[in-house]
Amino acid sequence: TCGICVEKCPFDAIEIINLPSELENDPVHRYGDNAFGLYGLPVPEPGKVTGILGPNGIGKSTAVKMLSGELIPNLGNHAEEANWDAVLERFKGTELQNYIERVIDGEVSVARKPQYVDQIPKQFDGNTRELLERTDERDALDSLVERLSIGPVMDQDIDSISGGELQRVALAATLARDADFYFLDEITPYLDIGQRMTAARLIRELADEGDRSMMVVEHDLAILDLLADTLHVTYGEPGAYGVVTDPKSTRNGINEYLKGYLDNENMRIRPNTITFDEHAPREITRSQVLFEYPDITKSYGEGEFSLAVDGGAVHESEVLGIVGPNGIGKSTMAKLFAGQLDPDEGDLDFRLDIAYKPQYIEIDQPMRVDAFLSSIADDFGSSYWDTEIARPLQLNPIMEQNLTDLSGGERQRVAIAACLSEDADLYLLDEPSAHLDVEQRVQATTAIRRYAENHDATVMVIDHDIYMIDLLADRLMVFDGEPAVHGHATQPQQMRSGMNDFLGDLDITFRRDERTGRPRINKPGSQLDREQKREGEYYYSG
Ligand code: ADP
Ligand code: ADP
Ligand code: MG
Repeated sequence: TCGICVEKCPFDAIEIINLPSELENDPVHRYGDNAFGLYGLPVPEPGKVTGILGPNGIGKSTAVKMLSGELIPNLGNHAEEANWDAVLERFKGTELQNYIERVIDGEVSVARKPQYVDQIPKQFDGNTRELLERTDERDALDSLVERLSIGPVMDQDIDSISGGELQRVALAATLARDADFYFLDEITPYLDIGQRMTAARLIRELADEGDRSMMVVEHDLAILDLLADTLHVTYGEPGAYGVVTDPKSTRNGINEYLKGYLDNENMRIRPNTITFDEHAPREITRSQVLFEYPDITKSYGEGEFSLAVDGGAVHESEVLGIVGPNGIGKSTMAKLFAGQLDPDEGDLDFRLDIAYKPQYIEIDQPMRVDAFLSSIADDFGSSYWDTEIARPLQLNPIMEQNLTDLSGGERQRVAIAACLSEDADLYLLDEPSAHLDVEQRVQATTAIRRYAENHDATVMVIDHDIYMIDLLADRLMVFDGEPAVHGHATQPQQMRSGMNDFLGDLDITFRRDERTGRPRINKPGSQLDREQKREGEYYYSG
């Protein structure tokens, strides 16, 4: 077996991958006989943002419990009681020595944003204001509330606000604390790109303000790239062992991660490389029209949200990316196209078979995953289906579970598989990256793209993850308007003009990494940022 898989290789053992040499040493911590073991620890640095990049189940939270003093590393010897003196001995002379001494002296105060914000209402009874006032140690609440646009829900009960609101409240609650060490376990779930940028800026400002160490786990690579000063990549086998690399520059860390090969470690972590088209925009060569649609309007009752979609055409075998802020009508449009809602004006009666994955997935039958998928996929169980769908979406380990027991990320992968397994004219995916870790995102993106190419399928994808959109989309549909009030969708347009529309509204510019061609957010106000804005080239330049 290789370093990634213990039993059955999910990658078809194209090559035998080397086992990390770290495994010859004692781990920093092991939970028990044959239980998960963690090798290496990330290093918090005062005044810096340290990023952690890697899949879930690889030991990131375990590491943080140690850095916050909650868990004493047992150095692999779980039979005896762990003690900090032995830990200090082990890390003497390393960059962690000083930090561990402070942990032992009880000198490190920690603020922590949990990964699963939807658990917060179960732990807190009360409204947003009450929650935030309890955490406001820095007297920063007013400004955080304003910049994260929390004002409208201040007097609402915590158990009545949406995921995106909860995420912003959790960020505000954490950043309002006065701590030496902040740990943020994912900052982007449920947020649109503008909100993701705001969260990143607030974290950066807090790091700049003093000797605070910020540590961020993040699966949106564009945001992680912008935010982190240094990066630890974590790899191994989720649930079995995890290795934390020494810090890398953020640029190199992400490039190596996408390449699937860690240079310093001399370690292959994935057989395939994720590549971006160097000289995007991809030209759309296929010009056959699959269907045309007229101007459409839809509103939810008197004075509530209203949507206007400009009429246009969707081409055969194209992937159409759909972007815009939250609450602007993207999912409403998806429901109109899928026939789940009727437009007020405009006729969408286009006799196409549509496979639709909604944003909020309802697959709650008491049924096993394999039974559910075999009822949809004609070629379920074939080696083709296994290679194209089951493996990249990591379905094999969960085939025997019940749909009702799945986690958010597992449901997402099953729902994407179910959608792609249908025989349809049009595949409509609403936020496929939600709840997926970074590795699942790149694999799901590859699966969707390959499926579209191999089947000449037409796909529409709504998503906030710019890497996913960049890797998938041939053309772009852009939403603008005023969230929760009215939304407007443009015709499908070329990537260049679509990105200019979209990013112009957000005042964000991207450049391309010279080596890999991947998009990178320009630092606001940097020379490139100003130049590109002057030229009106927000996404592609040169
Ligand atoms: P991540 O934060 O990267 O998702 P975690 O640190 O939460 O990963 O968990 C890594 C592994 O350790 C998982 O397989 C998890 O099941 C296991 N684990 C976590 N806490 C315990 C514990 N208290 N006892 C035994 N195993 C645990
Ligand atoms: P997006 O997918 O862009 O986030 P949605 O289409 O889900 O946006 O929602 C757009 C707006 O319409 C939001 O303000 C939302 O609260 C509102 N909305 C969505 N569904 C309904 C409904 N069934 N009744 C009333 N308002 C709704
Ligand atoms: Mg939506």
